Parts: sequence; structure tokens; C-alpha cells
Amino acid sequence: MLATGLRQLRYGYSLLTGRRFSADGLQKIVADLVETLDEFGETTDEAAEMLMVAEPDAKAEQEVVGARLRQAVRDAATSTAYYREWFGRHDIDVDDLPITTKAQLKSAPFAFVSDRSQPVLMAQTTGTTGVPASIWFSRYELDVLSCLNALAEMLAGLRRHHVVANFGSSRAALPVYDLMRTSTLVGNGCLQVGIVDPRIAIERLATPLHLPGKANQVTHMVANASFLAAVVQEVEQGAWKAADFGLRQIFPGGEILTEALRLRAEEALGAPVLETYAATEITPIAGRVCSQRHMHFATHQGQIEVLDPMTHRPVAPGEIGVLVVTPYPPFRDTTLLIRYETGDLVRRLATDKLSCELANVFATSQVLGRADTLAGPLAREVLEILQTEPAIPLPTRYALVPGRSGPVLHVAVPRPSRRLVSRLEELIAQTLPGLDGLVLTDDPDSLPSPCVVRADLREHSFELSALVPAAADPAPVEPESDLLGALA
Ligand SMILES: [Zn+2]
Repeated sequence: MLATGLRQLRYGYSLLTGRRFSADGLQKIVADLVETLDEFGETTDEAAEMLMVAEPDAKAEQEVVGARLRQAVRDAATSTAYYREWFGRHDIDVDDLPITTKAQLKSAPFAFVSDRSQPVLMAQTTGTTGVPASIWFSRYELDVLSCLNALAEMLAGLRRHHVVANFGSSRAALPVYDLMRTSTLVGNGCLQVGIVDPRIAIERLATPLHLPGKANQVTHMVANASFLAAVVQEVEQGAWKAADFGLRQIFPGGEILTEALRLRAEEALGAPVLETYAATEITPIAGRVCSQRHMHFATHQGQIEVLDPMTHRPVAPGEIGVLVVTPYPPFRDTTLLIRYETGDLVRRLATDKLSCELANVFATSQVLGRADTLAGPLAREVLEILQTEPAIPLPTRYALVPGRSGPVLHVAVPRPSRRLVSRLEELIAQTLPGLDGLVLTDDPDSLPSPCVVRADLREHSFELSALVPAAADPAPVEPESDLLGALA
């Protein structure tokens, strides 16, 4: 175990000094841990100790944070065209650094790539906000990322006999590559399914695998929240029940996961839902939602700020702002970003004194909405109401448009009953009193502004016709009454 100890020391040294990790050393730490878990089973002090090295203590973290930020700025200012030009016109003052927007990154992705890097993989964002942003990664970054993820996932309970299915977009190069690398390191099974028809997804989850040394069904499901919603709807309305699946954990991300959807997913699929937050641009920084619904971030990997979207000044505790992130070296060496504005709104927590299981780790609220949307209720507030109603189809489609005295909420509901309308009106009166009206429409395409979700990035397949007879499509039902549009 002496070699293991030395490798852990080197890892800790890199975290403390910002010196590059040894990718070989990290791979060996992962292999040691896999071996230890194989030998000693689920939990040993030794395994726990080995995993603890992945998270430095809070005091050490405080000491290195300032140095890491200065190092990130120095690297970007000396090796990328964009920041070289910017710092050519401004002093390097860590208290007044530039904000980098997604539009700037999209317009010249090459200008953010370090002269000193060896780019090997271009990953593009797969959001719903138009032209994707391009981010390049080096082999070093990919090696480090997959090792750190393998350690983190084993800490979260991933073992060799598990099988992970990814229902995220097959075009999302980074998460797909990372899933495969991480699974190779941990030794678990993995399959890339993609954003297919939800009926195909359910079939993948339910079908026995018959593999040596592996669970007999998929144990871990990774999906965007809107695709999870589509699967939940299919299970709720179809002939499936939770006992048909062998899931142990569900990891939704990429979009707002409401409490309502979380509960429905746990009920329909029979496994706990653990929400995460990640974006290709800010890799390896990721948010993890705790049992008290804070979103926690490992601040030794990057600076996390919550800023006013207009002034870019820090918001006060308890206020809402946009999440701005600077990934630190030695985690990133290719596409370098300083104060990257994610566009995601979060609330700064009112207190630093938390009582959850991650109380020592920096936290904000969960994502509440997008900074570029209309003033009015936050996306999370609207979705939380709409997703409690089983009669409203998932994924939820809605739009907010300006009305006389406030925004008007338009919702796509194919067959609204009077009971649904009165329930919605009551909920809205209680929780969104600023709304000027509610309009229900039977056609999502007729919403006043398009409501696109990641589940719309559908990957076509010839599989469905073989799996599901056409008659399985639900037959149209006559509307109970003509309520559409009557409530504005
Ligand atoms: Zn917490």
C-alpha cells in the first residue's frame, strides 16, 4: 500500500500547488480503489480514506483558491488570443476581471484555446439556445476528468456489477466519451442509448441483460430532465410499473428538475433521483444537489460567483443572480475561460451555516431559470406548479408573454377538464399572484413562443416499429368541454 499512499500524496500536492496531475498516477489510484472495493466489499475505512483524498479540507481549500485564480488568469492572459488582447488593454486585477459570455465564446471559439495546448477533442454544447458553443479538450484534460469522475462515482456507490445507461444526446461528445472512459476504469457496464423514443428507452431499462458479473438490468439512468419527464409520462400512462425495472439511481441534469417531477420519477421508476448540474464549458465543475435541495460545488476546481445579470456585481445573501464560473488549472489547459457567464439563475443562500450532509461545501440554490427570459415568475416556479398535475403532458410546454398587468401564462394541455382548470387557477393564485392570466392551448406549436426542451433533440430509430405495434398510440379523446383559451 506504500505506492498507493505516494500516489495519493502526489494528487494532493497537485491540488495544493496547481501543478499538473500525473494522469498515470490518477489511473493507478482508481485501479487501487477498484481492487480494494473488490477485495473488501462495499465499505472499508481504507477505501473511504482513499476517496477522501479527492476532497481537500475546507481550510486548505481557502488557502489555495486565491493562488488558483491568479494562475488561471495568468495562463489565459498569456496563452489565448482573446484574453491576451483584453489584458493588453487592461491591468490584470483579480478584483475586476472580464466577464466572458456564451456569445463571445461562440463567435470565436479558437480565440479561447491556449497556444500551449494540444487539443484532441471538440465538444459542442447541446442545449436549446441556438448555435452551439465549441470547447476543445486535450488528452490530459480527458484523462484527468475521467479519473476524477471514476473516483467520485465510486464514492457515490458505483461498482463493477452496475450498468449505466446514458439517455443524453449521442452528439454530446464529452459526456459520452467520459461515460465510456469512466466505465472502463471502474469496470461497470455502460450503454449509450441517446434521446430516442421514450418507449425504446423503457424497453432498454426493462430488458434483461444476461451478462456475466453484471446486474440483470440497467442500474443507473442518466438523462436530461425533460427526457426523464417523457419517460415518466410513458410509464405512468402505459403498461409498465416500477417493479419492471432494476434501477438503483437516476441522474437527471441539464435542465430544471422540479420537486414534483423528482417525486413522480421515483414513484414511476422505483429508484432515488440524484440531481446534478454540469455544463461542457465549465468542466470539471459540477453541482450536486443535497437532501436539503442546495446545489453544492467543489470550489477547489473553480471559482463560483453569483452576480447580478445587469451590473455583474455580487448579489447579497438571499438574492438571485447568474452563475459565473472560472475553471482552475490544473484541471483545464486547452479552452481557457475566465468568469464564464452560464446564463443560469440561482439564489445565493441566505446563510453559510448549513445543516445538510454537505454542510462544509459551498452551495447555492438549485437552478431557478435562465437570465435571458422575460421578467416574471421563474421557470422553476412555473414548472413546479404545472408538473404536479398529471393531466398536463410531460415534458411540460409553456410560454410567458406580456399582458396588461403582468405576464400571461400559456400552457399546452390537449384535453383540459374544468377540474384541472380550477385546480391550476387556485395553485397559481396561491404561488404566482403576479400573473395576468392563464391560457390553455391544445397544440404546443401554437404557443406564442416556442417551448423547446432537450428531449426534442430526438434521435431517430427504426427500432420502434418492431417493438411497439402502431395501435399502442393513445387514441384521441373528445375534449370534455371547450375551455381552451377561455381563461385569459
Ligand atoms: Zn446542502
